[in-house]
Amino acid sequence: MEEIRYRQVFLSSRETQKENSIIDISGKRIGDGGLTIIAGPCSVESEDQIFSIAEAVKKAGADFLRGGAYKPRTSPYDFQGLEAEGVRLLLKVRKALDIPVVSEIVDAANIDLFEDVDILQVGSRNMQNYALLKALGRTKKPVLLKRGYAAKYKEVLTSAEYILSEGNPNVIICERGIRTFETYTRNTLDISAVPAIKKLSHLPIAVDPSHGSGRSEFVVDLSMAAVAAGADALMIEVHNHPENAFSDGKQSITPDEFETLVKKAKAIKEVI
Ligand code: PEP
Ligand code: MN
Repeated sequence: MEEIRYRQVFLSSRETQKENSIIDISGKRIGDGGLTIIAGPCSVESEDQIFSIAEAVKKAGADFLRGGAYKPRTSPYDFQGLEAEGVRLLLKVRKALDIPVVSEIVDAANIDLFEDVDILQVGSRNMQNYALLKALGRTKKPVLLKRGYAAKYKEVLTSAEYILSEGNPNVIICERGIRTFETYTRNTLDISAVPAIKKLSHLPIAVDPSHGSGRSEFVVDLSMAAVAAGADALMIEVHNHPENAFSDGKQSITPDEFETLVKKAKAIKEVI
C-alpha cells in the first residue's frame, strides 16, 4: 500500500512501460496498432431501436456496440436512460448478434449488473469520481475513461491511475471534446490529446467526435482527423432516426453515414 501511495512515476506513464498497452477483449485488441470502432446510439431506447441500430453498425464494420442505459444528463428533467432494463436489452443484443458492448456505469453499486458488459464507460462528468474509479480498479473489467470536459491531460491520466493502482490495467482513455470559448460546436475536439496522451502514457486512446463536436455534419471529418493523428479507437453515436433520438440526436449520424465513415476512417488508417 505504501509503495502505491508514494509512487513517483505513474503506472500509466511511458516511463514505467515503453510498449503500448493492448487491451484484449475476447480477441478484439485495442491499442495493437489497428483501428477499433465503437458505434451505437447515445441511449438504449427500446428493443427495436437497439436491435436495428446494432445490426446496421455491425454490418458496416463496428467492432463494439455502444448504448447508454444510465445517462448522467445535465438537466434532471432530461431522459435519464432505461437503467437496468437498458442494460438487459443491450445484453440481449450482445448475445443475439454476437457483438461486444460498451455502456456507461455511474455507480459502483451497479458493477454486478454490468458483469457481462464488455467495456465499462466512465463519463466525462464522472472522470473524477474517485470512489467509482477505485471500485472499477478492483475489477478486471476494461474501462473506457472519458476525459472531463475541463480536465488537463495529466488530470485524466491521474484518474486512470486510480484504476491502475487498484490492480486493473485495462484502461482506454477517451478524448471527447473540451469546453472552450467557442460555442458553434458543443465542445472543441482536442486532437492534440492523441499525440500528447501517446507521449505521456502507454494506454490506448479513443476519440469521440460525436460529443467532441455536437454536430453530426462534422463527425466524419473529425473521425478522419482523429485516425490521422493516431487514435487507436473511434466512438461514434449512430441513430436510425436522429431527429427522434431521446438524447444527442443532433450529433448522431445515420447508419448510411456511418458506413461512409468506416470506409473513410479505414482509408486514412491505411495511409498512415
Ligand atoms: C455519452 O457517451 O453518451 C456521454 C454522456 O459522454 P460524455 O460523458 O463524454 O459526455
Ligand atoms: Mn451521448
